[in-house]
Amino acid sequence: MIIAIDGPAASGKGTLAKEIAAAYGLHHLDTGLLYRAVAKAMLDAGARLDDAARAAELAGALDPSRFDEATLKSQAVGEAASVVSAIPAVREVLLAYQREFAARPPGAVLDGRDIGTVIAPAADVKIFVTAIPQMRAARRTLELRARGESVNEAEVFADIQRRDERDSNRGAAPLRPASDAHLLDTTDLDIEAAFRAAVEIIEAARTGRKHG
Ligand code: C5P
Repeated sequence: MIIAIDGPAASGKGTLAKEIAAAYGLHHLDTGLLYRAVAKAMLDAGARLDDAARAAELAGALDPSRFDEATLKSQAVGEAASVVSAIPAVREVLLAYQREFAARPPGAVLDGRDIGTVIAPAADVKIFVTAIPQMRAARRTLELRARGESVNEAEVFADIQRRDERDSNRGAAPLRPASDAHLLDTTDLDIEAAFRAAVEIIEAARTGRKHG
């Protein structure tokens, strides 16, 4: 079974994907980490973030088994990731890895921006997770502070809006729900309630019932 979970920054899709993978015994891939790792490699190399050839080369040299998640999750790397992820050659290089991951038995939950539209268009279940930007900024601020970053919520809000704008308006695999995705708005839901709502969507899809 392949479950595609897409949505904008800090919508709660990562936590949800992890919990769903654990509950169903599936592999989990946070695809944002791939773009973050390319961005981090570009920053470390002192390269310009719009250098497409260099970004594609560094994307090809990634070793996901050696990712340091704590470093990749910083706000600065997230911002840079949304720049390099707009480069079609970078997306092209990362496509095969994501498809191979999705094909590993017994299946996987992948979360990102284009899982339901590009990476796994035939996924068994597609969920598009949203929440209003203010709520996403509040959640991301708490998360970054818990990681030891001193951030200001107004700046995080501005960063989220910039990323939404960039991710939604790029030519290559823009952020948008697949036509057959189920929308899940987590604005008023805590993690537990969001998980229950997602399981309901998955179970309805598995038993062929129409959700909602
Ligand atoms: O999800 P996360 O915030 O870690 O993603 C970082 C950036 O990577 C996003 O802002 C987006 O530009 C890019 N991304 C993408 N496609 C994905 C996952 C992430 O373009 N499937």
